[in-house]
Amino acid sequence: MIWGMLLDTHCHLDLFENPDQVAEAAETASIHTIAVTNAPSVFPKTVALALGRRFVRPAIGLHPELAIQRAGELPLFHEHLSTTRYVGEVGLDYVMATSEDRRRQRRVFEEVVTACRRMGGKVLTLHSRRAEADVVDCIGNDFPGTWILHWYSGSKTALGRALVQGALFSANAAMMRSDKALAILAQVPRERVLLESDGPFVQVDGRASTPRSVAALVPALATLWGVAQEEAEAQLSSNARTVLA
Ligand code: MN
Repeated sequence: MIWGMLLDTHCHLDLFENPDQVAEAAETASIHTIAVTNAPSVFPKTVALALGRRFVRPAIGLHPELAIQRAGELPLFHEHLSTTRYVGEVGLDYVMATSEDRRRQRRVFEEVVTACRRMGGKVLTLHSRRAEADVVDCIGNDFPGTWILHWYSGSKTALGRALVQGALFSANAAMMRSDKALAILAQVPRERVLLESDGPFVQVDGRASTPRSVAALVPALATLWGVAQEEAEAQLSSNARTVLA
């Protein structure tokens, strides 16, 4: 039984078959949920999902894999940005990208980060696959807000720089099944670790992970840290409070 505050920092509520049910289940279980979106044009749907719910927080996003195709939605991004503290999913993805694509992705991401900098106090959940160093560079040294590297899978060097620059890291169920991901998480100080479902993309026992699934990550982190489950709960709860404060 988890008594502390639980926070799912990265869930694609709008991509579930039954978003309203998943949102209601998070609400009923009192699990704070940052509901990320992949394009500014779909953000209003998630705002509607959060309406009347205390635990669901809509995030305005522009996913790196859509950033080029949807760059025309940047004005909409700016329009919605002042209505929420939460930003995501944004970042860079170099897996399939040509050098020209990378350049165009960076231009979009830089515009997003600059806008967040200007407003201050935003909470960003960041995609950085094969682009970790550039994401960390783009955020810079004195980012006036909170930034969370979601499903980080990069080098120790970039991780070290991210830590110096103030990054937080969110862990999901897929990472708990990977020795490589666990080795990365072991490098992150406990007070920098947060939870995420990344539902519906991450699966748990053959089903899409939901905000409620993040409770199961607590014992796994307790094992990784070599502490009692209560201690892991208290730590993660305190970390969550910092983000939501
Ligand atoms: Mn995601």
